[in-house]
Amino acid sequence: MKIKHIDHIGIAVKGIEQAGKFYTDVLGLKIEDVENVAEQKVNVAFIPITDSEVELLESTEPDGPVAKYIAAKGEGVQHIAFRVENLKEALDELKQKGIRLIDQEPRKGAGGARIAFIHPKETSGVLVEICERD
Ligand code: ZN
Repeated sequence: MKIKHIDHIGIAVKGIEQAGKFYTDVLGLKIEDVENVAEQKVNVAFIPITDSEVELLESTEPDGPVAKYIAAKGEGVQHIAFRVENLKEALDELKQKGIRLIDQEPRKGAGGARIAFIHPKETSGVLVEICERD
């Protein structure tokens, strides 16, 4: 597979408004958009930095995956996403290599991306997302 670059770093936060201040007021970056991803029970704030972005993830429900993450581990880096040229091909290659996947097939992510997660047992504990964008 061809990894192009780090697409984004997903950071679990209790609240986008509060957490976003560090990125905007201190670092001088800009929150470009905030999107609700209903199926993940999350709001996602996009903070572009050159070819990559920081994504602040705020749970919208107490039982959402980001809320559960924060309950278990506290706020912090939740996943890292690598952009690939062709997600379907990348998944086929990972399956062929016997890599355990959370998503067997591409699904819809924030910002119009197609995404899939690799099981953290395969990556020394890092939740790795691979994604493709048009
Ligand atoms: Zn992501």
